[in-house]
Amino acid sequence: MNYDGSRDLYDRALSVMPGGVNSSVRATQPYPFFVQKGDGGHVIDADGNRYIDFVMGYGPLLLGHDLPESVQSAVQRRASEGPMYGAPTEVEVELAEFLARHVPSVEMVRFVNSGTEATVSAVRLARGYTGRDKIVIMEGSYHGAQESTLVEGKRDETAPSSPGIPESFAEHTVTVPFNDEDAAREVFEEHGEDIAAVLTEPILGNHGIVHPVEGYHETLRELTAEHGALLIFDEVITGFRVGGLQCAQGTFGVEPDITTFGKIVGGGFPVGAIGGKSEIIEQFTPAGDVFQSGTFSGHPVTMAAGLETLRYAAENDVYEHVNRLGEELRSGIADILEDQAPNYTVVGTDSMFKVIFTREGAFGDGHCEGGCTQNPSCPRYEHCPKNGADVDRAETERWERLFWPAMKEQGVFLTPNQFESQFVSAAHTEADIEEALEAYKEAL
Ligand code: PMP
Repeated sequence: MNYDGSRDLYDRALSVMPGGVNSSVRATQPYPFFVQKGDGGHVIDADGNRYIDFVMGYGPLLLGHDLPESVQSAVQRRASEGPMYGAPTEVEVELAEFLARHVPSVEMVRFVNSGTEATVSAVRLARGYTGRDKIVIMEGSYHGAQESTLVEGKRDETAPSSPGIPESFAEHTVTVPFNDEDAAREVFEEHGEDIAAVLTEPILGNHGIVHPVEGYHETLRELTAEHGALLIFDEVITGFRVGGLQCAQGTFGVEPDITTFGKIVGGGFPVGAIGGKSEIIEQFTPAGDVFQSGTFSGHPVTMAAGLETLRYAAENDVYEHVNRLGEELRSGIADILEDQAPNYTVVGTDSMFKVIFTREGAFGDGHCEGGCTQNPSCPRYEHCPKNGADVDRAETERWERLFWPAMKEQGVFLTPNQFESQFVSAAHTEADIEEALEAYKEAL
């Protein structure tokens, strides 16, 4: 493949944007490919190379790059009627009603402009509502570029993970390993009176993919309720992807107090949302006194794109399609691993998937059979990753040096970080899955 066009653009970008990009993960080496346009389940780069796209914008593009007519016309109409007003519009109400109708724990919603803004506001809301400062998060988790969760370290020995964040911010953040019920209990025994909330993804999509073990979320639900703390599910990735319209919380049957959304809810445009019971969400200004505000929040173009995307998913067999292709991909990869790389593991559920490069013995002595490593009825369930530390044993260097470039060279665009989920969209076809499996066979 020829990448001259991308290389030239990267050179220009490096002199006007830090690292040549506007989001760090995009700066793949030796240089990223610059995208010219999307086409169904594919993207085409600046040099005309075509890739099957399993990054899908890091999750927002449930429908792929060809938006259905209803989404396109709603977006174009909104854009042509003056893009935004600084006054409320009907479409915000409609999207909020849609979320409240489908997501079990949601009665009210505040829209914002990114997943980060959603988690920042959710943490402030939990602190304001409870009058407490401490937030419990999972080791290795990612909740956006926000001060309270950019921490490293264990339990209450945490420090900021980036320069520019005062040490005092990390003092209020406690980490526990995902799926470790005892650690959560101990933290509540020690700090129960001071904990405002436990914040977790229902399925770790940024550091895995890791599923909750049976009963884990129920334990978090009980512990938080017992100690007067809130449970926040960060469904920025899993929202309207895992479990369809009821989201991951519907699948697990556990209702958080607050849910953060992003990605799919904006139909490919910048979005975030904080949802939950009215009693809590109404603490936001102007109904309550926890300050929250935004020039672009509830942007009509975004709201229209999100609403029409979710309506389309509700009225068509979108989830059936993406989940079936996801399963075909996971079980096809599992077969290839069995033959060629038995130390590696395929993880994921619904339309999320990833191959984790574990060393022999890291999760046991091999990968799971049956396409999904994290189904409790699977005979190899005990070997699958249970927390961030398990996946940290993966051969990330090998993934980045050999595997990711090998897949890209074969025209398959994957998330370059070993730990970030990849996604199947409604625009992907059986032929895309077959082609991708051929590429996996070759690369592995
Ligand atoms: N929470 C989770 C679980 C995420 O995966 C992300 C981003 N991938 C965020 C929050 C932050 O969202 P954004 O990048 O839209 O700010």
